[in-house]
Amino acid sequence: MSMKTDFKTIKELHEYYAQNNQCKLKYIATQPVYEVKLPSSGIVFIGEAPGRNEDLQGRPFVGQAGKFLNELLQTIGYSREDVYVTNVVKYRPPQNREPLDSEKEACRVWLNAELLFIKPRIIVTLGRHALTRFIPNSSITASHGELFEHPSHIPIFSMYHPAAALYNPNLKQVMFDDFKKLKEFLDSTPNNSSAKIEQINDILNL
Ligand code: URA
Repeated sequence: MSMKTDFKTIKELHEYYAQNNQCKLKYIATQPVYEVKLPSSGIVFIGEAPGRNEDLQGRPFVGQAGKFLNELLQTIGYSREDVYVTNVVKYRPPQNREPLDSEKEACRVWLNAELLFIKPRIIVTLGRHALTRFIPNSSITASHGELFEHPSHIPIFSMYHPAAALYNPNLKQVMFDDFKKLKEFLDSTPNNSSAKIEQINDILNL
């Protein structure tokens, strides 16, 4: 599928890709899940795929994992409205199973177009599926809390998925510590460092 980029608003972009994508999950999901408010901070969090609450409400991270994400944000002085949250896959997989490669591939252009529109200052990957979308073959255990360079010149910060900490409470403190590291990075770089469009184009080749 080719990429269309000339949208006036992020809502228009999402409505276009909701109509024009080949993801088979759209035939069984209630609706596509996406955010329509742009962040002031240029910080973009990318999760895996919507769960039950997201499927019902049409917005990302509105369930338990989202609540914990909001709590983590608050500890570093950000609110949910300051950041943009999205997913690798825009439709809920049945029984919350992990997304298939074919589903990730079908939503790939959609995510690329979103990033091209937003021009993030930093991308924070939540969990393995988002991480390997940008840093292939990397492991979440080895990479969490670390910042990676990327051909797009957008810094990539790896985090565990907040849902992982709900299943394994030992990971909660790890995530609080990783958010502190994220805050240190944000405080040490100017907020006008959003990537240039031609640099972001490099993400399309990965
Ligand atoms: N988990 C995700 O990866 N995304 C959501 O939107 C909700 C839970």
